Amino acid sequence: MSAKKGRRKHIPQRTCVVCRRTLSKRELNRIVRSPDGDIFYDPTGKASGRGAYLCNDFTCWEKAISGNFLDRALKIKLTPAHRAALQAELERRQALPGQTSDNG
Ligand SMILES: [Zn+2]
Repeated sequence: MSAKKGRRKHIPQRTCVVCRRTLSKRELNRIVRSPDGDIFYDPTGKASGRGAYLCNDFTCWEKAISGNFLDRALKIKLTPAHRAALQAELERRQALPGQTSDNG
């Protein structure tokens, strides 16, 4: 038992590409650009490709879908199909029970 004391295990930190808040990876959602140019939400966080992160704030998702935050972060032009796929994921989340606007 030689655990170092007083040191927390390092938690990887990532930045939401919209609001620029820095959060731990677990609190962010990874959007990945696969090597063949597809863009999708990556629930495992392990898909290969370039990743961008969004926090759980629906406003950030909406801005990411309608704006060009992801285009910049992923260095690719999002197609309407990409945006539609992210919109579908957002709507799925908005439909989940227990997702109240209690984030004060
Ligand atoms: Zn955000």
